[in-house]
Amino acid sequence: MNRARVLLLNSALGALDYRVPNDMAVEAGSIIEVPLGPRRIAGVVWEEERFPDARTVANDRLRPIAWASPAPPLPAPLRRLIEWTADYYMAPLSAVLRMALSSGAALTDQRTIIEYRATGLVPDRLTPQRQQALEAIGDFQGIPRELAEKADVSLAVIRGLIKAEALEAVEVEANAPYAAPQPKYAAPALNQAQQAAADRLTAAVDKSGDKDGFQTFLLDGVTGSGKTEVYFEAIARAINDDRQVMVLLPEIALTEPFLKRFAARFGVQPVAWHSGLRQSERRRAWLAVARGQAKVVVGARSALFLPFPNLGLIVVDEAHEISFKQEDGVHYHARDVAVMRGLFEKCPVLLASATPAIETRHQVALGRYEEIRLPSRFGGAQIPDISGIDLLQTPPDRQRWIAPPLVKAMAETLEKGEQALLFLNRRGYAPLTLCRHCGYRFQCPNCTAWMVEHRISHRLACHHCGHVMPTPRECPECHEEDALVACGPGVERIADEVNQIFPDARTAIVTSDTLWSPERAAEFVESVEQGLVDIIVGTQLITKGYHFPNLTLVGVIDADLGLEGGDLRASERCFQQISQVAGRAGRGEKPGHVYLQTRMMDAPVIKALLSGDAQRFYETETENRRIAGAPPFGRYAAIIISDEDANLAASIARKLGKSAPQTEHLHIYGPAPAPLAQLRGRHRHRLLVHASRTVNIQAAISHWLKSVTWPASVRVTIDIDPYNFL
Ligand code: ADP
Ligand code: ZN
Repeated sequence: MNRARVLLLNSALGALDYRVPNDMAVEAGSIIEVPLGPRRIAGVVWEEERFPDARTVANDRLRPIAWASPAPPLPAPLRRLIEWTADYYMAPLSAVLRMALSSGAALTDQRTIIEYRATGLVPDRLTPQRQQALEAIGDFQGIPRELAEKADVSLAVIRGLIKAEALEAVEVEANAPYAAPQPKYAAPALNQAQQAAADRLTAAVDKSGDKDGFQTFLLDGVTGSGKTEVYFEAIARAINDDRQVMVLLPEIALTEPFLKRFAARFGVQPVAWHSGLRQSERRRAWLAVARGQAKVVVGARSALFLPFPNLGLIVVDEAHEISFKQEDGVHYHARDVAVMRGLFEKCPVLLASATPAIETRHQVALGRYEEIRLPSRFGGAQIPDISGIDLLQTPPDRQRWIAPPLVKAMAETLEKGEQALLFLNRRGYAPLTLCRHCGYRFQCPNCTAWMVEHRISHRLACHHCGHVMPTPRECPECHEEDALVACGPGVERIADEVNQIFPDARTAIVTSDTLWSPERAAEFVESVEQGLVDIIVGTQLITKGYHFPNLTLVGVIDADLGLEGGDLRASERCFQQISQVAGRAGRGEKPGHVYLQTRMMDAPVIKALLSGDAQRFYETETENRRIAGAPPFGRYAAIIISDEDANLAASIARKLGKSAPQTEHLHIYGPAPAPLAQLRGRHRHRLLVHASRTVNIQAAISHWLKSVTWPASVRVTIDIDPYNFL
């Protein structure tokens, strides 16, 4: 009798035993489907030890496994990673497992996928919907659901177009192998510091898979020092050793330039993995990874759970970026999970950053991570000078945001035929819209947040839940027409101002609204490289990765933004963000200059940026954290209680607060209404757990929450090591 313990893709069920039919071979990690009542449900065969208390059923009552996927079993190190992630972040195992089985299609043995593309034929009956669909689809090809999403029409419209022969089926080979990157294709000559760094890393890659093959490195190099070139050498070595490589990037907007750069170095593009892939692309990539055929995968944080059988190196680029922290579903931090994956895979992990997080520096100080430094920019390029513009001394005109000294610097830059970048981390036209006549303010109906005006798309949008409405002509309260005024600036408004001051300059706005796909990002890069853009106005999306040699001026519109609000990491984040955006200036032969507009010339973080004394800033910040027992010296966990019913949410939060454990080294603050007291129609209360490093915070929380019950409508979300204190 052959039985198998199966972890089901359903958090309410956990693991159940099934019978393995005689003609089926499964092992730990095998991806299967099992009967559950009248349905079939996916699962993975798992080690029994993990579920000692699984409901046991007598042999003769076991139901048989229904189907086994031809895909390779999930490798053991990945299974350990799934367990660790679930335990550490207090998430259901099945929720983490789901992230590893991220391509349903890859699990079947289907060899081709049917996609559809336009034939050019215009149907006789051309409804507005059909027309809209055909326009939006253009040259795009995909399965019907993807086409419907792209065109924002119903599936029925797509089906109608197929029937009318305006769209035709194309059979896509879903198993086509990827071309292999060539380690020696265009290897650069490294300078001395780069070579030393590369040597250290390639030696570590050679040890990958050995008992002591795990080692975490911090590649700490100023912007433009050649960190990417250096870790490319480590990648080259891994390819040479016939191992796989995972590269994590913080934004999918960065993948496209990265793919190009990689292709220039290795002759072919790496395999991309992100949420924007078509189903056929996902399937192809997932399977090629699982079979060890995809050598180098570059992706967003979800690439972490791909089933590499033969990982030889993990790179986390821009490792300090907080977008590595996932804020919905399983609340994990991709940087930290990447390190754990390296541990289980016994391979080196490289964190690259010009502004490493205090947590990461601390690991270096403890001797757990090895630091490799690249102290200067490549090829004699200089780190740009940074000057402050005191907005209290030289303010901009009324209803303007660019102060005279910055306007002057921009004029000089344009005069020389060079490019400028203005940075403001705020999407849209204005963060708040109100009625001049009655004072009415537009607030999101679902969230405690103002509606943000987007003038380009003529809409008001909530940046928290996505609620949008057309910008009305009259005030909904007093019905006065044309009385709405925009308060404060967003990037669109700054771009307007630039166009008024420099009517001949060509501007580009860079936000997630304008660069919403890798293709759009690539178009943008190309237009800047070809000199078709004079002034870029952008949010944090522009702060990292880009290399524009002719960009010599950076202006930070509001350096103080984000310093208010009392977030634990506010100063650090401000320092990182401004250092990164400053790092876009003067990357080529021409020197760069950076201006920070601020009302707080004396704030320590502004002083540190102006003096360039990063070391001192980090020391002071670290000391402040030590005194406060904040991470990395202590731990936080946030517990958010939410419900559509405000009273219910409040009462469960109080109930939880009352039953909080009274232990030494563990403090619980709250409950209090969360700063975002309402989000997506749910009322939110927050408890903040603060613990010393000696406490097992997960065990304490788990024990505590088990002692309290709440109705099913109430959602209790646990966020270990929270980054977002909203
Ligand atoms: P970082 O990742 O540290 O910001 P990059 O790797 O992007 O730095 O390097 C900055 C620029 O310098 C890039 O255009 C890169 O191609 C170039 N560069 C760096 N090192 C070398 C080298 N050894 N040979 C040629 N070009 C280099
Ligand atoms: Zn909202």
